[in-house]
Formats: sequence, C-alpha cells, structure tokens
Amino acid sequence: MGKKIIVAGLGHGGIAAAAQLSKAGYDVTVYEKKSEGTLGYDWTDIFAPGALGVAGIPMPDESLYEYKENMTFFGPSETVGLKQHVPQDQLEIKMERRDIYNHLISHAVDCGVKIEYDTEVIAPALLGNRVVGIKTDKGDFYADLVIDACGMLSPVRMNLPDHLGIEKAPSRLEYITIYRAFYNIGSDEEVEAKFKVMLYKDGILGMSWVASEDDHTDVLIGRFADFDMDEVNRFTDLLRQTNPRIGTDKVRGGQFVNIPVRQPLSLMVADGYAAIGDSAFMTVPLIGSGIANSLRASRILFDAIISDPTDSFSAETLWKYQYNFYKLLGSSLAPLAAAKLILPKLTAEDVDYAFESGMVTSDDITFGADFIGLSSMNVKFQDIINKAKLAGGNKEFLRKLPSTGARVSAVTGACAAIPRRYSADKIRSWKRIYEMSFK
Ligand SMILES: Cc1cc2nc3c(=O)[nH]c(=O)nc-3n(C[C@H](O)[C@H](O)[C@H](O)COP(=O)(O)OP(=O)(O)OC[C@H]3O[C@@H](n4cnc5c(N)ncnc54)[C@H](O)[C@@H]3O)c2cc1C
Repeated sequence: MGKKIIVAGLGHGGIAAAAQLSKAGYDVTVYEKKSEGTLGYDWTDIFAPGALGVAGIPMPDESLYEYKENMTFFGPSETVGLKQHVPQDQLEIKMERRDIYNHLISHAVDCGVKIEYDTEVIAPALLGNRVVGIKTDKGDFYADLVIDACGMLSPVRMNLPDHLGIEKAPSRLEYITIYRAFYNIGSDEEVEAKFKVMLYKDGILGMSWVASEDDHTDVLIGRFADFDMDEVNRFTDLLRQTNPRIGTDKVRGGQFVNIPVRQPLSLMVADGYAAIGDSAFMTVPLIGSGIANSLRASRILFDAIISDPTDSFSAETLWKYQYNFYKLLGSSLAPLAAAKLILPKLTAEDVDYAFESGMVTSDDITFGADFIGLSSMNVKFQDIINKAKLAGGNKEFLRKLPSTGARVSAVTGACAAIPRRYSADKIRSWKRIYEMSFK
C-alpha cells in the first residue's frame, strides 16, 4: 500500500491531484463537507479545456459543453464597446459547474480515489511543525501528506501556526463578491453584444456582465465590497435600462459567492502540507478564473511528489512544487495582481477615458484558452502607459499609472528571483520581498 494522502475539500485542483496520485499507487482519501451530488453552483463556468489533458483527465462528452462567445467590454458610460477576437483554437469551453464536478469526480473514483462526503474539516492536525492530518466533525484523520483544496477560506490554511509564515485570510480588496442569476428574456429584440462586460457601471468599483443566451439572460454583478438583495434589485433595474433583454423573473442561480483575485500564496508548502487552487489563490487576478490553473497546478504538484523517491513530503521536497508553479504560472499571475491594485484609484471617468481615447484596445482585452496571466505584463503595462501618453488629456489619470507600472516591475522581478533550491533562510527573505512588492 502506498503512503497515505488526505485531500481536504473537493476543490478542482485537489480532485485532479488525487486522481493522479491514486493512479500512481498512493492511498488517497478526500474529505468534503457537502453531500454527494450537491457540489457546484446552479450555473455554467468557462475554462480552458487543454488543462484537463495536462492533469490526465479526458475531455467530457461533446454534448456537455459549447465554446464561449467573445466578450465585449464597456466602460461605465457604455459609449465604446471593445470586442475580443479570440482565435478559434484558443476558445474556452462553457459547461455546467455540476457537470464539470461530475466529470472530475467520476474520473478520480475510476482512478481509485476514496471520497468521504458530509465531513467538515475544522483544522489541520499537527505534530510539532508538521501537518500530520486533519481535524473534522467526524474525528481526526492522519496521513503522510495533506493537500489543502478547501478553497479561499480554508480552515486548514487559516489554522496553521503563524510561525509557519503561510498567509491566512485575504483582505477585502483581494476577493470579489459575486451575485449571479439567470433571468427570463425580457425584450427579445436582437442584441449587438451577446456577452457584454461592464466595468465601473454606476461608478462602482467592480464589473458586471449581461450575457444573452437562447433561453435566458445571464446577469453577474461583481464588487470589491459586500452588498445585499436590495442593491442587487436596484442595480439590475439600472442594467435593464440599457439591457432590456433582462426579464424580471429569476429562473436559475441567485447566490452570493466570493472569488479570490490576488497574487498566489507567498508560501504554499510546509512539512506534510501543500495548498492548491483557491486555497493557494491561483485564480487569474483580474478575471477570477481558477479552474484551469488548479488543474495545471495539480500536475505540477504530482510531478514534484513522484520525483521524491523517499516520499518524505517535507517542505524541502514540496518546495519543487512551489518553485515550478511560480515558473510556469505564478510569475504570470502575480504581476496581474499588482496591476489590479490600480483599480481602487480609478474613477468612472478614468475608465471611460481609457475606452474612448484608444488607450485600451480590443487586443488588450483578448485572452484565449492559453491565457494564464500575462507572461509579459511588464511590457504590456508599459505599452498601455505609452498609449495613454500619446492619447494625451486626462493628466490626473496619467499620474496614477507610473506607480502601478513600478509595482508591476517589482513583482515581476520578485517572481524571477524565487529560490530554486530549498533553504529556509533564503525562502524567508524571498517571501518578504515578494510580499512587500504588493504593499
Ligand atoms: C461564482 C463563481 C464563478 C466562477 N466562475 C469561474 C469560471 O467561469 N471559470 C473559472 O475558471 N473559474 C471560475 N470561478 C473560480 C473557480 O471556481 C475556482 O477558482 C476554482 O474552482 C478553484 O477553486 P477550488 O476548487 O480550489 O476551491 P472551491 O471551488 O472553493 O472548492 C473548495 C471545496 O472544498 C469544500 N470545502 C470548503 N470548506 C470545507 C471544509 N471546512 N471541510 C470540507 N470541505 C470543505 C467546498 O465545499 C468545495 O467543494 C468561479 C468562482 C465562483 C465563486
């Protein structure tokens, strides 16, 4: 029997890692608080299908997905719409979240993974500094490695001892609160932009979308602040003024949920512990997509684990996972998180100006399935600053750009300097520099 691995929470990266490890002979059990058959949300999600193959998961049946529409982005005044032009072979797929879960779970079970539903993880079980298992409402369970796939507010990560240096809860600007619902079709007149994304609508820091589907209109409201149903109703009425296709009857969804939109954890491993997916903040910081990156990270984690013949699962051997994650994904995601820090400084007028002056173009908002972050965010940001200078005008706005440009460069530099070999001292000092570059 192989060594024992616990996956805490049925997060996407966790299930995918569980499948690969179980297939390789490890004894893997997942503990999930929800009941069997109840995972996911009542709506569709968009992700890069190629990530399934990276994690050794077959493509789902064609009847279960379709290709995503290009999005058209608007500033708050909706004067100029910039439409993406994603090449056909770079289109992401759109699939019901429940079907994504069913597909991943049935693959994992076929690979020999055991899943314990209705089990709430409460905290890690520790022996000195080593994570040796999990504490749950059904008792304590022990293993040689705990993979934390419990999501943004993971009780495993948040209850690790402070001195391990692993960041805990995200700050309010590091996660976005989403309300999403499908409405019946109000007016059936033809719409020009079928997937409309609006930034800073009503001058509010956040984004919203209105997607016209054949039998409903999909409305999403995202903000860096808490809001309630009264505000949802007020804002949806406002959206109806320019989007009469939004009917008044809610037909599906209607939930508030949070998505992390910040840089990946500065430290995602410890002795006996590795975080993955939202628990390690692996989403694309500007758009909140996390499924594909979680799947890709599962492969990086698997490769790191099987390359250690001693199965020590120490911070030192698991460091290879963090190092390769940063080289392949993190170094593209983190600069985007740095660029995102400009958002609270912008006004609705600034955003309209960016759209109307030609400073942001449809090329800038076109990202296909291979999009991970922007591998050359530094160059990209400098390019946008140059275009802004050429556009002239709005001096106040132009003054906000250089400090963000400098921060993007600092974060890019920090990512490039991540230590390859494990040394507790070197990692401590790298971590400090990386964290400081976001301050
Ligand atoms: C509204 C919304 C829309 C999104 N849309 C997209 C999209 O279109 N495309 C995309 O790529 N990404 C999207 N994302 C992000 C994506 O869902 C995540 O980034 C991705 O799934 C990785 O998160 P995760 O699986 O690690 O964590 P989660 O999805 O949070 O899963 C964590 C799992 O752990 C379980 N769990 C949590 N706490 C406990 C506990 N104490 N004990 C036991 N189990 C526990 C949860 O029940 C859940 O099953 C969206 C997220 C939200 C919220």
